[in-house]
Amino acid sequence: MATVCRAETIPFTLLQLNDVYEIAPIDNGRWGGLARVAHLRRQLQQANPHTYTVLAGDFLSPSALGTAPYNGDRLAGRQMVAVLNAMGLDYAAVGNHEFDVNAQQFLQRIGESEFQWLSANIADAAGNRFSGIEPYKILTIPGAAGEEVKVGILTLTIASNPVDYVTYSDPITTARGYVDNLKGEVDVWVALTHLSLAEDLALAEAIPELDLILGGHEHENIQRNHLIIKPNSSPSCPRAQTPIFKADANARTVYIHQLTYDTDRQCLQIDSQLQPITAAIASDPATEKVVEQWQEIGFNAFRQQGFEPMAVVVNSPISLDALDAHVRSAPTNLTRLITKAMEQENPNAAMVIFNGGMVRLDDLLSAGAITQYDIIRLLPFGGRVVTVEMDGTLLQKVLAQGEKNNGTGGYLQLGGIAPNTIELSKTYRVALMEYLLTGQEVGLDYLTVNNPGLKVIDYGRDIRSILVDYLQNNAQQAFTDLGEP
Ligand SMILES: [Zn+2]
Repeated sequence: MATVCRAETIPFTLLQLNDVYEIAPIDNGRWGGLARVAHLRRQLQQANPHTYTVLAGDFLSPSALGTAPYNGDRLAGRQMVAVLNAMGLDYAAVGNHEFDVNAQQFLQRIGESEFQWLSANIADAAGNRFSGIEPYKILTIPGAAGEEVKVGILTLTIASNPVDYVTYSDPITTARGYVDNLKGEVDVWVALTHLSLAEDLALAEAIPELDLILGGHEHENIQRNHLIIKPNSSPSCPRAQTPIFKADANARTVYIHQLTYDTDRQCLQIDSQLQPITAAIASDPATEKVVEQWQEIGFNAFRQQGFEPMAVVVNSPISLDALDAHVRSAPTNLTRLITKAMEQENPNAAMVIFNGGMVRLDDLLSAGAITQYDIIRLLPFGGRVVTVEMDGTLLQKVLAQGEKNNGTGGYLQLGGIAPNTIELSKTYRVALMEYLLTGQEVGLDYLTVNNPGLKVIDYGRDIRSILVDYLQNNAQQAFTDLGEP
């Protein structure tokens, strides 16, 4: 018999999630939940042991549970790491929201992780690599007939959250350097990125060696086939695409990438499927237990603050827009509800003001039952509403700064009289968030209780209690006032 000489094709699976802030299912259990993802992962692994689970960044923050007090600190993503460990995550890209926590919390979370953190273009303040974060990882995946494929995972992080303990280098220059240095050592390049779609497209264009880009940051699922001519294309294997995939935030969906590498023709076949995570998927019991344990720790802390996390506040006929990009640049239906609630709580105030950065969900809150936990998810840091008397001059200066802060958390959301009716010589009663009187908001360092242009009248209630009561007591009227059904 003649010896059959055939190329070996090696199959492997990448399970991708990105931008995950909640450990339990959201929207009344309809979507997401990491115990369900764990069950799916187990099934994929049974079908092919060469299954790798990757998270394309943003998981330590923002999350409501993460703000819960715990052992003299806040949870600050500790619950996420514990659940991702239980779920069996293999690799996590560093996203911009990882730097919402302080340096000490950031390093503690890395230390608690049983998965590998990756990012090639970040370093500490001194420019040194963080211990526990690798720039890339090369997987060696064996086939049944003795061949193997080397898969490089290279990670890049968006430089959108500058804090004093991190420095960035340019993602494309950095990627170019690693891909060149590892030439010949990697058969398949997977970029696991946390970049904007525009940056991912530029990356695909600049580094044609990348076979696949698994990204995050946008929060809504995206698939782009970026057509480029690859330098190593051949007539038998015209690898002329670098597909870019992003799943929906909070594991509403995940991507399952079934990859097959032909070691002879050096071809990669990619078969990707967007998988909704719903109640149709069972929960992995071991992961579920860890989820429940941390949820209880968080919920008990909220109960001590006077909240009943599972209590339904209102049935919303519409989804509420709490996306950072929107609440930090213009009013949305959600911010209008918040200013209405502040106005009703402070009927004598001519104006109400809060900073867009107070809203931390960075997502849409779906129509349907809104629980007190959802309100905590929207406004995890809470804070009192303070009533002051303010000079027209000072008020106008503050509002002008709010406009300048457009695009950042310091953008000011307003209710009450129109800003252009303010008279410099008059004094106005204003209800605003206590945080805005700390001098810590961008460009508002002069805005403190010591400013001679204002006088504190009253320290009111926590904004979350105000919003809960407003929605509960006004129910559907609140939405009718918005001009919505
Ligand atoms: Zn992000």
